[in-house]
Amino acid sequence: MYSSVYQTADPSGVGDLNISGNGMVYPSVLMSRNDSVLCGNLREHSLTDIWYNAAALKKLRNIKISDIGSPCTTCEIGELCGAGSRSRALSITGNLKGLDLWCPIVAEKDNRRRTENVLFTQK
Ligand code: SF4
Repeated sequence: MYSSVYQTADPSGVGDLNISGNGMVYPSVLMSRNDSVLCGNLREHSLTDIWYNAAALKKLRNIKISDIGSPCTTCEIGELCGAGSRSRALSITGNLKGLDLWCPIVAEKDNRRRTENVLFTQK
């Protein structure tokens, strides 16, 4: 959807924005109340200023699929998917550039890694 401009397909901070009742602005409703991606407050800055200058929005818009890593970098549908949800990655891993563990491909790889770690530590 956004791949002509952005590599990742999550609309957070691109087509979405969330304004909470107290004027706090976040990239999306799923990221609301997460201070690590707080974009500003409408009581202190205009929405235009926040939209163009908030560090969190610039960071989100500059994320490349290569920043997220495997398996997204080699995924057959990577260009279509755009590396899953940045909101879910942030909420689950605490990292905007983390993997979206709700993706079955990512989850399978993560399960395999966890199983290998358990087997390795049991030896
Ligand atoms: S591995 Fe999953 S999240 Fe990553 S690009 Fe492929 S389908 Fe999307």
